[in-house]
Amino acid sequence: MSESYDLVVIGAGSGGVRAARMAATYGARVAIIEEYRFGGTCVIRGCVPKKLYVYASRFKDSFDIASTFGWHVDASFDWPTLVANKEKEISRLETAYVAGLDRTGVEIIRDRAEIVDANTVRTVNGGRTLSTRYILVATGARPSIPDIPGKELGITSNEAFDLKELPHSILIEGGGYIGVEFATIFAGLGVHTTLIYRGTCVLRGFDEDLREGLDAGLENRGIRRIYETNVKSLRREGKDILVSFGDGTEAPFGAVLFATGRAPNVHNLGLEKAGVELRADGAIEVDRFSRTNVSSIYAVGDVTGRTALTPAAIREGAAVAETLFNNNPVAVDHSLIGTAVFSEPEVATIGLTEAEALTHGDIDVYLARFRPMMNTLSDKTDRMMLKMITLAEDQRVLGLHIIGPGAAEMIQLAAIAMGMKATKADFDRTFAMHPTAGEELVTFKAPTYRYRNGAKV
Ligand SMILES: Cc1cc2nc3c(=O)[nH]c(=O)nc-3n(C[C@H](O)[C@H](O)[C@H](O)COP(=O)(O)OP(=O)(O)OC[C@H]3O[C@@H](n4cnc5c(N)ncnc54)[C@H](O)[C@@H]3O)c2cc1C
Repeated sequence: MSESYDLVVIGAGSGGVRAARMAATYGARVAIIEEYRFGGTCVIRGCVPKKLYVYASRFKDSFDIASTFGWHVDASFDWPTLVANKEKEISRLETAYVAGLDRTGVEIIRDRAEIVDANTVRTVNGGRTLSTRYILVATGARPSIPDIPGKELGITSNEAFDLKELPHSILIEGGGYIGVEFATIFAGLGVHTTLIYRGTCVLRGFDEDLREGLDAGLENRGIRRIYETNVKSLRREGKDILVSFGDGTEAPFGAVLFATGRAPNVHNLGLEKAGVELRADGAIEVDRFSRTNVSSIYAVGDVTGRTALTPAAIREGAAVAETLFNNNPVAVDHSLIGTAVFSEPEVATIGLTEAEALTHGDIDVYLARFRPMMNTLSDKTDRMMLKMITLAEDQRVLGLHIIGPGAAEMIQLAAIAMGMKATKADFDRTFAMHPTAGEELVTFKAPTYRYRNGAKV
């Protein structure tokens, strides 16, 4: 027998949960179907456990300099304690997500969902048929790994959080944010860490100064980087995995982690039956309102291949609920989204890189580089960098890039000013908070360098 809904949401991650709750608050009859755990990637095997592990790994740097502040610490690390406490916390959050959905009257269905047609969804195991005015696909993405011999010996970010024991060494393939975050997590926890990436430096697409700064930070932490090559094959050798590289060399590692990108979860979802169009990369094609080419089917979050970040999925989910059930069409503006990399050192950025800004005309670049105060008593060589890029014509801030402690927190607040189209004068008018690293952003004097007609002067 078919049951009737206003909205059936497939996937209870960041985007799906927000849309379901808001739609129910606006009076819609909503069901949400989840095949794994409520909370999705972010809560269960993404942002949340990642940040907890980042915190764990950062004790290492603190212990390293503790003695310069008079502390003598005899530290040791226990991986199972971290894994167990992480599990406790994400289970707490999962329960809170379910309770929140329940409170707003959303029907919770634990199953895998499949689209039957433009207005029908079927649960794969329970065999229920749900007819609905609208379907929201919020199925996220999954790690994609290279198709090479022995690939099954490697792990992805999904498994990394729950390893039975810490390996003595790890090879991480990938120079994106997930790769570098896991590299500094494992290195901080005492694992000999190597990062291999086919590009010339980590964090492709980020400002060059951030990329170089992070590369130096990885070097300072003893993380070996192998650039411009890749992994060709894996094979078991005793307890280790023997890795063959693109340059013909081989080396054994305790574990191999693929951080080689993520693919949208569109397989076996019934999208083709409903006639939903996909992009060449497999993501679901949507318009500004997250609507697919089928007028009753919407899609939000990672499965749409727009901005693969939790706040984007949440914003898109909320906009769909507003549009469909509050008579208030909302299109999400993806043009100015700050992003952080919780590596060590931390990286955060908003707006244009120097190379991108140059395409907008003459620009001024303000740069501050210094040792974070926390390290000044020790011989730690890490350098912090804050960079502001302004349009020469009206001094509007086009980009802000920070590497060092607190980078993400600083960019989060500076993003408000950027969204208001702040100029350098607006930053200058702000009193500094002293002593902080962030005060550099409001005390820049003359530009460190300028570009006029494309030439650095
Ligand atoms: C290691 C890692 C670290 C990250 N760190 C950050 C970070 O620091 N900050 C940040 O903003 N973002 C981070 N992200 C990205 C963030 O997790 C995602 O952008 C976000 O979770 C996307 O939300 P979503 O709703 O699109 O999908 P998801 O959260 O992935 O949820 C999709 C859900 O759909 C379910 N599902 C899939 N198919 C079906 C089906 N057929 N039937 C039923 N259920 C189905 C899945 O089980 C899943 O629970 C990280 C991601 C990873 C992997």
